[in-house]
Amino acid sequence: MTLHTDIPASEQKASTLPRRLHFINGEHVAPVEGEFFESISPTTAAPIYEAARGSAVDVEKAVGAAQRAFENPSWRDLSQTRRGRLLRRLGDLIGENAEQLARTETLDNGKLLREMRAQMAALPDYYYYYAGLADKIQGDVIPGASRTLLNYTLREPLGVCGAITPWNSPLMLTTTKLAPALAAGNTMVIKPSEHTSASLLELVELLDQAGFPPGVVNVVTGYGGEAGSALVADRRVQKMSFTGSTATGALIGRACGERFIKATLELGGKSPNIVFPDADIASASMGIVAGIFAAGGQTCVAGSRVFVHRDVYDETVERVAERARTIRIGDPLEATTELGPLAMASQLAKVEEYVAIGRDEGGQVVTGGERARVGLDGFFYQPTVFVGTDNQMRVSREEIFGPVASIMPFDTDEEVVRMANDTEYGLAAGVWTRDLGRAHRMASALDAGTVWVNTYRAMSPMSPRSGFKNSGAGIEHGTEAIAEYTRLKSVWVNTSDEPQGDPFVLRS
Ligand code: NAD
Repeated sequence: MTLHTDIPASEQKASTLPRRLHFINGEHVAPVEGEFFESISPTTAAPIYEAARGSAVDVEKAVGAAQRAFENPSWRDLSQTRRGRLLRRLGDLIGENAEQLARTETLDNGKLLREMRAQMAALPDYYYYYAGLADKIQGDVIPGASRTLLNYTLREPLGVCGAITPWNSPLMLTTTKLAPALAAGNTMVIKPSEHTSASLLELVELLDQAGFPPGVVNVVTGYGGEAGSALVADRRVQKMSFTGSTATGALIGRACGERFIKATLELGGKSPNIVFPDADIASASMGIVAGIFAAGGQTCVAGSRVFVHRDVYDETVERVAERARTIRIGDPLEATTELGPLAMASQLAKVEEYVAIGRDEGGQVVTGGERARVGLDGFFYQPTVFVGTDNQMRVSREEIFGPVASIMPFDTDEEVVRMANDTEYGLAAGVWTRDLGRAHRMASALDAGTVWVNTYRAMSPMSPRSGFKNSGAGIEHGTEAIAEYTRLKSVWVNTSDEPQGDPFVLRS
């Protein structure tokens, strides 16, 4: 894959860092205002490249390109089956370039290379899945009240869709928007996180090879308050899909509401991970570790509130703490590393602040609780386990987005359901039990868009994903996502030759 990091000599400045440009109408273009910003390596704390600092003018150009592409017969009149074929080809190309994309993401956000490799290996499946759905998007014929009124529905694309994504799984969380949006015939403008601009700019290199007309997918990099808010404000944008914090999601949801356009919002979480006394404790303990320490807890579904039945509490805390102490922290590119750095200095500061808050609130740190010294200058923090916390403390209520677990005891099923649901969030939940009836009772009682039983962080393009309460609105993944990128039109046709009847009564 060749990277288009070059810009005209007139635009070069003294910096030796490679520069990454916007991608508009099939071309890498410099920002109109000529501004760039540095992207910092979380592993070394050194700048690794400069990304274009998008402004409202760049967004204006990108949305214009997307609008023209939407109206262009080369995209608009492409058969749905052919659209699917392009998506399938894109999936193939991503698979062929998976190693490069995985490395780019690891360098940018510090997640383990082997985690990013697994994500990139899964990515083509999302394109194949939505490729398969592309020509199954259809309306219905509605049984009419009258034999002479034919009523049918058309499921139409929306037009230009905007996407704004976070830094923790950049391409995965872009794909869950891009693949259904394209399958449904829309065009897109994407604003990736300012912390991880690189991988998406590499992915869009593959669009032309896959056969997508220019302008169908556009990328403007930059800050949320600049490029991001300009995208949300552009009146040609017919839908926003956003993954990120609840606070930003509320702003975007409000702006979309004022314009009456659809918004899919995938937001924060404070997910409960519950261990019942009948569980396989060794396995449940590893599930707790996976839920909160995988990816350094920087996943929206992090199982940060761990509830363990009092009968197995001590044993579970001991097992989790023991594994946490032996987690190998270091360079995320190394095959043996189990925990890389946090993605940015501000994340490290946030985690430190919350650990201090937890201590002040009376929590005791069983293991961790400070920065990890690994001989690199990046943003490393130890896996941290709190006991002595309760469900009302700030560390149990606010999203930390780091490797910090609170393990709290419970006595009865009713009590743990109450505690698990006593949160503003409703994204995911884990249940560890060998009792089949209890597993299903919990799945029903827990107020979360995803419930995992005896596993954690499983996902598939086929399985709908949504956040309840302050964790979001709308659905990603699955066939349901198609509805988010289409509008439904109801068409009525009078098939009768009879003259029109009384004009002053409703027809049915
Ligand atoms: P964030 O809200 O700070 O930023 C997300 C994106 O929004 C970035 O691209 C940012 O530039 C942009 N943005 C910020 N302010 C904006 C504004 N005023 N207008 C328009 N765009 C704006 O979130 P983050 O720190 O990048 O990501 C972490 C958060 O994402 C966590 O809360 C996490 O739980 C959540 N998340 C949710 C899911 C999910 O599927 N529910 C998945 C991953 C992450």
